[in-house]
Amino acid sequence: MESCVFCRIVARQIPATVVYEDEHTLAFMDIGQVNPGHVLVAVKQHAENIFALDEAQAAAAFRAAARVSRAIRDAFAPQGLSVYQANGSAAGQTVFHFHIHLVPRHEGDGMALTWPVKNPPREKLAEYADKIRARLG
Ligand code: 5GP
Ligand code: ZN
Repeated sequence: MESCVFCRIVARQIPATVVYEDEHTLAFMDIGQVNPGHVLVAVKQHAENIFALDEAQAAAAFRAAARVSRAIRDAFAPQGLSVYQANGSAAGQTVFHFHIHLVPRHEGDGMALTWPVKNPPREKLAEYADKIRARLG
């Protein structure tokens, strides 16, 4: 996709600081660096979001994320690491080409995600699960 910034990075039409690549993925430093060592793992073939991934891309993306995460851990010795992945603007996605954030974490680093739990009754969990199972085939 001509207009997609991550497709242009994959095609080496615009610069990026690459740390890893394989057949399906390219991992490079996020330009914003929430914390030092913040990496994005993107699929090479344009896919807008998680819903558009094929099996090979899905497997490769998480395999690369795990591999690069271990290298970030060894390089930066963070206290933790957050894996963040957004699909759709309502979820916070700003670049509409599938990618996984790997963010090294430290106590009090200011990164926050509000988590507004609803704690529904167990019957609700069963109802929600039935809906999902029915669509998994
Ligand atoms: P999203 O909000 O879609 O999950 O995250 C998009 C991320 O892409 C942001 O963290 C942003 O800093 C990063 N980003 C946007 N444009 C570029 C770019 O041209 N180069 C790099 N390396 N990162 C980018
Ligand atoms: Zn793209």
